[in-house]
Amino acid sequence: MIPPVARDFVAGEEPATAFEHTRQTNEAGVGVILNKLGEHYHERGPAEEDTAAYEQLIAELGETDLDSCVSVKPSQLGIDVSPAVFEENYRRVVEAGSEHGVFVWCDMEDATTTDTTLDAFESVATEFGGGVGLCVQANLRRTRADLERLVDLPGKIRLVKGAYDEDEEIAYTDQSAVDEAFREDLTYLFKNRDSGVAVGSHDPEMIAYARELHERHGSDYEIQMLMGVREEAQRRLAREGREVYQYAPYGSEWASYFYRRVRERKENLLFAARAVLGV
Ligand code: FAD
Repeated sequence: MIPPVARDFVAGEEPATAFEHTRQTNEAGVGVILNKLGEHYHERGPAEEDTAAYEQLIAELGETDLDSCVSVKPSQLGIDVSPAVFEENYRRVVEAGSEHGVFVWCDMEDATTTDTTLDAFESVATEFGGGVGLCVQANLRRTRADLERLVDLPGKIRLVKGAYDEDEEIAYTDQSAVDEAFREDLTYLFKNRDSGVAVGSHDPEMIAYARELHERHGSDYEIQMLMGVREEAQRRLAREGREVYQYAPYGSEWASYFYRRVRERKENLLFAARAVLGV
């Protein structure tokens, strides 16, 4: 069972609890991106199991009127087994999304997976004509060139700062350089797309900058934040008329995800310690 302290960050262990969380979050005008926890599978079996779980989840979501979509991780669908296994499983999930009218996001993992993930996305976005979105990371030096490749494809693009530690040669490692790259990439997206731009950030400065770009260029966009992070701001932005989505993970592998959230920010660490100690 998930302890109360982790429940702020994880929408339960089963699809049923994730659906209930989605229903409640929707009431505040915030959509939900569901992610079944699981990553770095080195064998075909678990990757196929999670693929089947997503197909089932999507079929069930398609029967509801929830404002929700899904987001998959390449290493959950088998990219560490082989690119071919990932491509096959990813295509199955996208096919299910297309059949049931459920949007399918793809997260971006470490830089060794970028080429394969981009190729797979380009292929499904072209074949299915939309209904899919891809995350790109502003900390990678290559991202601007990748955006030029992606910008005219159907579907959506989620820009994030990047969560993986990468070498200086391929990535900006200084926070201010990452922030600058984020602004430049966001500007490029707003200038070159009428819609389908997603700002995956909790940073009030980036969110304000996106609004500025929207006023200047008119492109439609959405803001995406994680469950348990700045939820008050998520609801406020939705009340102000912005399209907001909350990325909500669920599943039995909640512990490692929760500890990652706790480690990355001292406020979360304090919050977790207080909850555990009851002070
Ligand atoms: P930071 O640069 O960490 O912080 C900037 C400011 O934001 C802070 O000063 C503070 O004002 C505010 N802030 C940040 N965190 C908090 C907090 N916990 N509580 C209160 N205020 C806070 N990364 C990937 O590499 N691949 C992915 O596929 C991916 N998908 C993502 C999907 C979503 C929806 C989101 C929100 C993030 C995703 N990330 C992904 C993670 C991302 O790359 C960043 O590591 C993460 O979002 C932290 O950067 P930031 O822009 O939110 O703010």
